[in-house]
This record gives sequence, structure tokens and C-alpha cells, in this order.
Amino acid sequence: MTDCLFCKIVAGEIPAKAAYEDAEVLAFDDINPAAPVHVLVVPKRHIATLNDASPADAPLLGRLFEVAARVARERGVAASGWRATVNVGRDAHQLVFHVHLHLMAGRPFAWPPG
Ligand code: AMP
Ligand code: ZN
Repeated sequence: MTDCLFCKIVAGEIPAKAAYEDAEVLAFDDINPAAPVHVLVVPKRHIATLNDASPADAPLLGRLFEVAARVARERGVAASGWRATVNVGRDAHQLVFHVHLHLMAGRPFAWPPG
């Protein structure tokens, strides 16, 4: 996708502070962190929303959680706890239409979320 912010970050056209990278997944610090640790984990391949994911995407989407857990360990928040959030669509406050998992940690979170 030429007009997608996170595709441009994946392509290195827009800078980001990488937390993890491999052939299919990239994790980078959120530019406007909502918690002391706030990392976005994205598939390198463009998928707009979870509504657009197919059954064949399941292994790739599963890897987002695995990478989030890895980054949580590396940032020292695995034991204290962390939140994994995927916003889907307007009502859920999805602003960037390239699937991303928010890894947030380093403070207590309320439930239910706002
Ligand atoms: P969402 O509302 O779920 O679509 O989340 C989009 C997230 O992307 C927000 O937390 C933004 O702060 C973050 N964001 C927007 N632009 C950038 C950027 N250039 N680098 C890193 N994070 C970004
Ligand atoms: Zn994209």
C-alpha cells in the first residue's frame, strides 16, 4: 500500500524506533505513548483491519502476540503485566488502517477500558 503510514515505516520511508524486526513482523515505539511502555507490533504485509484478515492470515496474526510477549520480556514488564489491544474500526478508535497490536505496560490499567 503506497498511502499507508505503517507500510511506510515498514519500508523505512518514515523513521521509527524499532523494538523487534524479522521477515514478517516489525515492532516499534508508539510516537505518542499512552503508557511508559507503548510498542506497536505490525505485520509487514498490509492488512487494513482484523475485518479484512483471512483464515490464512491466522499464523501471521498469532505472531503479533508472540512478538509482543518477547518485547514485554525485553522491556522488563512481562511479570508486572501488560495489555495487548487491537482497535478495529471507527467505534474502537482505529486511526491507522494497517493492523497493529498495541503493547502497553508500566502502569496499572483500568477495566473496562474507556
Ligand atoms: P490506533 O488508534 O489503534 O489506530 O493507533 C494508532 C497509533 O499509531 C496511535 O497510538 C499513534 O500514536 C501511533 N502513531 C501514529 N503515527 C505514528 C508514527 N509515525 N510512529 C509511531 N506511532 C505512530
Ligand atoms: Zn499498510
